[in-house]
Amino acid sequence: MTQQQTPASTTIDPELLSAARQAFANAYAPYSAFQVGAALRGISGRIYSGANVENASYGLGRCAEQSAIQAMASAGERGFTALVVYTEASPPASPCGACRQILFEFSPEASVVCVNAQGESVTGSVADFLPHGFRLEHG
Ligand SMILES: [Zn+2]
Repeated sequence: MTQQQTPASTTIDPELLSAARQAFANAYAPYSAFQVGAALRGISGRIYSGANVENASYGLGRCAEQSAIQAMASAGERGFTALVVYTEASPPASPCGACRQILFEFSPEASVVCVNAQGESVTGSVADFLPHGFRLEHG
């Protein structure tokens, strides 16, 4: 993984960034006030986005990355090529451990760009974010 300060437009799929920012604006985060938007590009080229959605029963909250994966899988896609996670955190927030495993399930080699409004980014593949991710191997 690398952490860098770069102009977002030179390193990030602009459509994914736009979708992630739109999802960010729709985040439902009345408890943490920490909004997250995520957008991924399915293998078909279609974009799926998601925001974090919290709940008064805190443990029921869902991350933006999980929301985007749910949208992708629910549409029948089983893989993605790239993910953008947008927050206002500095350094940019990266996917939590649970989300890393959920992303790994579908596309360990997909690129991940975590970015904020200042253009700071943290990048790598899903497998970079989750080395030795779990796979259920059938013998
Ligand atoms: Zn998460």
